[in-house]
Amino acid sequence: MLAFFLGITLVLTGPAADTTHQQMRNRMVQEQIAARGVTNPAVLRAMRTVRRHHFVPGAPPELAYSDRPLPIGHGQTISQPFIVAYMTQLAEPDPEDRALEVGTGSGYQAAVLAEVVDSVYTIEIVPELAQTARQRLTRMGYDNVRVRTGDGYRGWPDRAPFDLIIVTAAPDQIPPPLIEQLADGGRMVIPVGPEGELQQLTLITKTDGEITRERITPVRFVPFRRN
Ligand code: SAH
Repeated sequence: MLAFFLGITLVLTGPAADTTHQQMRNRMVQEQIAARGVTNPAVLRAMRTVRRHHFVPGAPPELAYSDRPLPIGHGQTISQPFIVAYMTQLAEPDPEDRALEVGTGSGYQAAVLAEVVDSVYTIEIVPELAQTARQRLTRMGYDNVRVRTGDGYRGWPDRAPFDLIIVTAAPDQIPPPLIEQLADGGRMVIPVGPEGELQQLTLITKTDGEITRERITPVRFVPFRRN
């Protein structure tokens, strides 16, 4: 009897809740992301698809889909939805690409990347965050994402080169190993600057071995740590 009621409850609330969360994501994309100039259709689709509320488990879904960064424990934050979409678009993702992310955090940016490229390698320096993100991404079915605990300064040499690199913590200087591990034709998006001040979101491209560096906009990210 109990199982019967539970079954009915799931049937009635599961899809209804999914619909509500989908509506929240559609609104988030329309009001916070497309409205501010993100136009890449694959990126917009990914932002409508990834269930962001699963990446901030304690928070009510309304907050998860709001226009702000949120705490994820260990003094770290999941970035504001717009900045995730904006950085992903800047990196010009292609379905064939292999991507590296430094700063897994909750795993949300990795999931967004996993929707728009072939494979994602992501490194997190805080072991507990790496483990939680790994379990979460596996549970959600993202089998094209690998999570590793470690210092992303060194990149992931055995899987290099990467077509696309996204760094979600701010170093003072661009780590040279990341530039080395960028494929020819590759794009890296990274906030650069001192802790406690605004950093410059920077786009690095490598063309025929030549590096170009373009400052995009001031941003505020958590500091890049070393161990
Ligand atoms: N991309 C994340 C945002 C995480 S905040 C998300 O979508 O949720 C930045 C993360 O970078 C933090 O979790 C922090 O612990 C991590 N970090 C800082 N320095 C690092 C380093 N050198 N290597 C790997 N991760 C680092």
